[in-house]
Amino acid sequence: MDSVSVEEKVQISVPKSENDSLKRIQEVFELQKENLQTLKNSTAKDRKKKLKKLKDAIFSNREKIQEAIYKDFKKPALETDISEIYPTISELKHTLAHFEEWMEDEYVDTPITLIGSSAYVKYEPKGNCLIITPWNYPFYLAISPIIYAIASGNATMLKPSEFTPHTSLAVKELLAQVFNESEVAVILGDHTVSSALLKLKFDHIHFTGSPAVGKIIMKAASEHLTTCTLELGGKSPTIIDETANIKEAATKIVWGKYLNEGQTCIAPDYVLVHQSKKDELIKAMKEQIAKKYGKDKEARMQSGNLTRIVNSKHYNRLVELTQEAIEEGAVVETGATYEKDDNFIDPTILSNIAPHSDIMNEEIFGPIMPVIGFKSLDEALEIVNEKEKPLALYIFSKKEKNINYILEHTSAGGTCVNDTILHITQTNLPFGGINNSGIGKSHGKWGFVDFCNERSVLRQHLPFGMSQLMYPPYNKWTKKLIDITMKWF
Ligand code: NAD
Repeated sequence: MDSVSVEEKVQISVPKSENDSLKRIQEVFELQKENLQTLKNSTAKDRKKKLKKLKDAIFSNREKIQEAIYKDFKKPALETDISEIYPTISELKHTLAHFEEWMEDEYVDTPITLIGSSAYVKYEPKGNCLIITPWNYPFYLAISPIIYAIASGNATMLKPSEFTPHTSLAVKELLAQVFNESEVAVILGDHTVSSALLKLKFDHIHFTGSPAVGKIIMKAASEHLTTCTLELGGKSPTIIDETANIKEAATKIVWGKYLNEGQTCIAPDYVLVHQSKKDELIKAMKEQIAKKYGKDKEARMQSGNLTRIVNSKHYNRLVELTQEAIEEGAVVETGATYEKDDNFIDPTILSNIAPHSDIMNEEIFGPIMPVIGFKSLDEALEIVNEKEKPLALYIFSKKEKNINYILEHTSAGGTCVNDTILHITQTNLPFGGINNSGIGKSHGKWGFVDFCNERSVLRQHLPFGMSQLMYPPYNKWTKKLIDITMKWF
């Protein structure tokens, strides 16, 4: 075990993107403002052309994106394909296939009291949008909201994470191949650049990141009463009951957890398993780790199948979190070994966790899996429900009654039953959290609507409508009419 000294913690060297200047930020913002009406007037055909150009650019930059992400945190090229490029392309294709229909005015029924009028929802672009993204899926999470912002006719400034500088630059270059800066501009930099951007009066902010920074974003947005979508994180539990197929659960949980070295917002954060199945699960998970990544730490490091921790700051945090849990009595079932120079943490499983240890309180966001046994479902649900509502909740069970009981007695942004992660790839489902794990929804139609003002339009086709019968001066006929209306219509 590497012990992390205070000096080391203070002198963390993290490569970062260069900060863009305040002057450039202001200039781009003004440029985009001037372009808003043109973008609003653009037809579905115009937008389709741009989205297709974006798709082509992604395909032709595929290797460049893989290389950039590898330079940032050694993500295997095929994992980049699977978890960054494919989901982006999938959302792009889904949008291309459906957004013309999403753009259409949506007519609604007319109540009898409004007879003679018609009404519809008009999806108009919000306007100047700001997108701020994190480092863990630095390509997918930056491009996905851009797709919806373009489909709905907005101008967008994107501030990707400073902690994946190679990918952020690759994203900037790729978007510059497709869009004029008056439509999409990438602003590079750290939180001070975010703060400068947040002072501007945007019409919408789409933020992906931690709940702590989400609060800062929401506070800043409130200054201008700007709407914001917050895609946040938290501790996503996995509940495995006594009826579950343990081998299947272990296979899917190991994939969901150690994908991207656990640096996934919807990674299973911890496992609650029926006490009678705990040992079988841990054994099966260890077998899966060996099968997927190699038989020992050296083999796993060399396997080319495991990403690294993004930087020494997060590496140190994870080592400390694990070390503290062990000091409080956690048993290391596998892992808890490290390679500091490479920011590598061996896939780790811990059991016998103290329920109120830090590892059970903060989002782990790394390859460490606490496994906790429970005797009754209610005991498991108590552990889940005493924490913030999670972004994802996973259930492994063959018993319909238990699945429904868990669904009815918990709340989460999304849930997968008998699998992990996959709900994010279902483009016909909204994606997002609830309260501490997020506000608002993205993806597919929800992603499009997120960047739109759902404007209500009522068109009166008659010179005389029923409502005029209730205009002042009020008299006994007005009273009669309102009484009848309230009773019958
Ligand atoms: P973060 O909140 O630290 O940073 C996200 C972005 O916010 C970065 O671009 C950063 O520069 C900016 N930022 C940081 N401090 C800021 C400040 N004080 N003011 C303004 N902007 C600031 O998050 P991270 O460490 O990059 O990412 C990890 C977090 O993101 C985890 O909590 C994870 O669960 C969450 N996440 C959520 C989703 C989702 O879709 N819900 C997806 C990926 C990650």
